[in-house]
Amino acid sequence: MSRDPRFDILFEPVRIGPVTARNRFYQVPHCSGMGYRYPNAEAELRGMKAEGGWGVVSTQEAEIHPTSDLTPANEARLWDEGDLPALAAVTDSIHAHGSLAAIQLVHNGLHVANRFSRMIPLAPSHVISDCLDPVQARAMDKTDIADMRRWYRNAALRAKKAGFDIVYLYAGHDMSVLQHFLSRRHNDRTDEYGGSFENRLRLFREIIDDTREAVGDSCALAIRLAVDELLGPSGITCEGEGRDIVTALAELPDLWDVNLSGWSNDSQTARFSEEGFQEPYIRFVKSVTTKPVVGVGRYTSPDSMVRAIRQGILDFIGAARPSIADPYLPKKIEEGRIDDIRECIGCNICTSGDNTNVPMRCTQNPTIGEEWRKGWHPEIIPAAATPEPALVIGGGPAGLEAARALAQRGVDVLLAEGGGEWGGRVARECRLPGLATWGRVRDWRVGQLSVRPNAELYLHSPLSADDVLQYGIPHVAIATGARWRTDGAGRTHRRPLAFLAEGAVVSPDAILSAGAEAVSADGPVVVFDDDCFYMASVLAELLARAGRAVTFVTPESQVSPWSQHTLEQGRVQKRLIEVGVRIVTAKALAGRSKDRLDLACIYSDRIETIDCATLVPVTARLPDETLWLELKAREAEWADAGIRSVTRLGDCLAPGLIAAAVYSGHQYARSYQTEPDRDAVPFRREDIARLYERHAS
Ligand code: ADP
Ligand code: SF4
Repeated sequence: MSRDPRFDILFEPVRIGPVTARNRFYQVPHCSGMGYRYPNAEAELRGMKAEGGWGVVSTQEAEIHPTSDLTPANEARLWDEGDLPALAAVTDSIHAHGSLAAIQLVHNGLHVANRFSRMIPLAPSHVISDCLDPVQARAMDKTDIADMRRWYRNAALRAKKAGFDIVYLYAGHDMSVLQHFLSRRHNDRTDEYGGSFENRLRLFREIIDDTREAVGDSCALAIRLAVDELLGPSGITCEGEGRDIVTALAELPDLWDVNLSGWSNDSQTARFSEEGFQEPYIRFVKSVTTKPVVGVGRYTSPDSMVRAIRQGILDFIGAARPSIADPYLPKKIEEGRIDDIRECIGCNICTSGDNTNVPMRCTQNPTIGEEWRKGWHPEIIPAAATPEPALVIGGGPAGLEAARALAQRGVDVLLAEGGGEWGGRVARECRLPGLATWGRVRDWRVGQLSVRPNAELYLHSPLSADDVLQYGIPHVAIATGARWRTDGAGRTHRRPLAFLAEGAVVSPDAILSAGAEAVSADGPVVVFDDDCFYMASVLAELLARAGRAVTFVTPESQVSPWSQHTLEQGRVQKRLIEVGVRIVTAKALAGRSKDRLDLACIYSDRIETIDCATLVPVTARLPDETLWLELKAREAEWADAGIRSVTRLGDCLAPGLIAAAVYSGHQYARSYQTEPDRDAVPFRREDIARLYERHAS
């Protein structure tokens, strides 16, 4: 297939100062959770984006000095020459595929606690750090300002030495000293670096000039600027100082990369924003500069990309998440394979990697983070040498991915789903408020399977152990999923709570199947969340929107605390407040009558009683392992039936994230004929010393 001429514009080369990008696909700086601690993984990850056709591939932020130390986060580092081998490996890997390599230099100012370096954070004024640590940043004096300028300059020179083509100065996400100086919120200096707009801009201007002078002969200079902080008059706004900054610096950089600040505004999930959601804020930029502009907004559709360019909003289609979900997105457009694009679902499981200091994972792309340590390629899986047929039971994310990847390997695969639709939990969950895009996990896999002649797909096919033994297909994967518990057992209550049965209990699964109708309209509903991620909050939202009086009870001190890692917690809590859900925190379940629920304060054990006609406990799940246990009990019959292996996948093995189910299915497909070595570490480990030796030689 060849490219649709409609999309030609996306493949035009674009000049950025002294360098030229081969197309308009631009992987903006994004965290990976790898950085300086997992340099081989980082290099392979970025190289894969270049291989997939992204014309520019950026690092994550690169800390320029030990006074900017985000430990334990795994960012890039340029503290001294010792950091060069890790970054040179990144540029080599990007250049090997003909793309430009960009690095985002940062001094994090008041956004760090410097836990590892133990140095005192630096800021425009004496302020408390914005981490939770009991650490203050000190106001920079003129010597500190001279130091800062020199550190930036040295970092830019090192970046050039490491082979980068584009050097970023970063004033975004409220995480950079350059933004801190710009901000009236953080800067109350009375010297020439504070007060008036021009004074607050001074350090930025000086560092732009220094960088240009140091590396501008061969490196392009990019500015990444937050044009709006969504804070109204107390922050930078796109009608106010956001616009003023771009106007004042308009022609100084070679490229503008513009976005929203902080990170939770920039990387909003699909639950709270649409594709292209940043356009209203950034569209002014091209009217005040002639330099190329890149912006983001979870663009996955080539039509939206073309529109954003034709309407004069962007010159480059910036992407972090769409490039994680599909590193090959540009190539697929180029080759006219639009249906093959694995679209990001906007769930932010990827951001949870950086936020928990580990290499990121992705719901849609199980190979992300495994490029180096497992040698997984997002598009290529080696064909099975002697492909023995496989039977996959259960058409949820685990079963669909296992079947898809097996079929890709040339295996004859039969996929049987007991219900009347594909997708398992994803089919049910994508009907919940704000989660429609999650259906893409199913749609992409069903689409890929439907064009494989070696894949047979059957709905309405609940299989029993007898069926499986009768079929005698050599390899059997059981991906039968899990069900929510209704007995209250979970994190807080480790044992079932017998008293729950004193009143009506409705399981999350009943609501997932039947919607709000599963819950009687008579009397108040209590959603008890001991799961701590999204499920309880979306069920509460669904029920409240359907007119139920909902109280959300959690033993935690806030709603959905794990959703901090997906950058959603604030919006989730706000949403529940807006739809009228009453929120009760720090309470466990203590007793029940027909229409009352006793709650115990988790600190004092004091009891409070609330009205409750129906309880929806969202605590934990149990694997649906009926089929597995039946088959296991008949293991002696497997060989005669021609069965060589039976393997559990996804939620049926252990309930977890959708990302984990997809990963489990993928892992199975890659190794289904081999018995795992249960004593071995199942991946390569970083050997940083060897990387450095290789670089030195
Ligand atoms: P996972 O997240 O691990 O993929 P899901 O719960 O999403 O798990 O999907 C499991 C799927 O398996 C459901 O669609 C369910 O209908 C199906 N299923 C469960 N038991 C059987 C069975 N015995 N035969 C066929 N399909 C089954
Ligand atoms: Fe998109 Fe979710 Fe993958 Fe992140 S984890 S890239 S949001 S699909």
